[in-house]
Amino acid sequence: MDTSMDTPPVFTSIDPRLEPVVESVLRRNPAENEFHEAVWRLLRTVGPVIRDHPEYLDARLVERICEPERQIIFRVPWTDDAGQVQVNRGYRVEFNGTLGPFKGGLRFHPSVTSSIVKFLAFEQVFKNALTGLPLGGGKGGSDFDPKGRSEGEIMRFCQSFMTELHRHIGEHTDVPAGDIGVGERELGFLFGQYRRITNRYEPGVLTGKGLAWGGARVRKEATGYGCAYFAQEMMRTMGSSLNDRTVVVSGSGNVAIYAIEKVHHLGGQVVACSDSGGYVLDRAGIDLDLLKEVKEQSRESLSVYADRRPGAEFVPGAKVWEVAAEVALPCATQGELDAEDAVKLADAGVQAVAEGANMPCTIEAVEVLRDRGVLFGPGKAANAGGVATSALEMQQNASRDSWTFNHTEARLVEIMKEIHTSCYEMSERCGAPGDYVIGANNAGFVKVADAMLAMGVV
Ligand code: GLU
Repeated sequence: MDTSMDTPPVFTSIDPRLEPVVESVLRRNPAENEFHEAVWRLLRTVGPVIRDHPEYLDARLVERICEPERQIIFRVPWTDDAGQVQVNRGYRVEFNGTLGPFKGGLRFHPSVTSSIVKFLAFEQVFKNALTGLPLGGGKGGSDFDPKGRSEGEIMRFCQSFMTELHRHIGEHTDVPAGDIGVGERELGFLFGQYRRITNRYEPGVLTGKGLAWGGARVRKEATGYGCAYFAQEMMRTMGSSLNDRTVVVSGSGNVAIYAIEKVHHLGGQVVACSDSGGYVLDRAGIDLDLLKEVKEQSRESLSVYADRRPGAEFVPGAKVWEVAAEVALPCATQGELDAEDAVKLADAGVQAVAEGANMPCTIEAVEVLRDRGVLFGPGKAANAGGVATSALEMQQNASRDSWTFNHTEARLVEIMKEIHTSCYEMSERCGAPGDYVIGANNAGFVKVADAMLAMGVV
């Protein structure tokens, strides 16, 4: 999307009183296109709560909500296996701490820039508010590319990254977790270095930890599981469910794998998933044990899955959205499903799309889905199960407790249902029943704005 003010964006229905705010965000954050888009996508939809709460405008709340509380950018030097010094850039954007400690993942990927981290942190603020749990919003990461790096290199990078990050985080301050490129292995290296530097065993400083050292059951599965549960709740409003549905999922990382697992538990059949090289089509239903072996254990290409699974086909260089399905779950990364893909999905009869990743559908794609009457669950609602379970991990750490899988999953289900209900009810109140974008944005915004108002000008 072009966010320059000369070319009006696709939607022009923004409350005119918010136009100067958008203009100022564009001017004051030059060239940060992803961040511009995230702000624009939120502000163009919050007209209903702004109309009901003129006090937000008097208190300049929208301006304050669009300004991060703190942004930290730092050098991350490390030595590779060949003895060469490498230099990466680290980020932590502490966007809004009104509802609780800053909370959000760390992403290690070459695409990471200040704009990407800021957009993700901004989204996280409202996502975390929707969980109803005491969480502020933040995000961090680095342009470090873990692909092809040895375990030793990854460990040295994580240690260098934490050597700076440790002074900014803490269980009551800012609690990072994983995201793309950061899983249990990386969190282990990060936690080890944090403990060494601070001389504190403080498990509540990071979430997504291993079970043996303060991690919570269901955290690994939570984002994917939550996304499937959210899709199920949306379908229920139409008297339908995931049972017997054909489903396509993009990605084959942590979110995708556990979205597939839960779709299968709920009686659906996932027939395709993807990685950066293409997608695999498996009409008999994705074999999860094999997928986990290829992706979680050996970290290989999906083509290896097709080589080892009779009847499966690997389609290189193509998008998974060309596979006909009744439900689509984009679980890879931002901007991966555009208007053309949305048209293909709708033509093939898709009934529901729920975002497991952060902002995978472009604004134009969302518009196509809405025009075609497809149920659409935006990421800040549909993928909030991950961070919600991080809050459950923080609860267990604070009380030095460890819950069972079933108890934790029951809490996750309850939270996803509550998120769905609050989005749906808000969409009704805004006069757009079933529009989860309107529902999620207004419901998340009002929670943050009311708390900020209560706390004065801070
Ligand atoms: N990175 C995940 C997200 O996008 C999880 C964040 C967390 O658990 O703090 O929501």
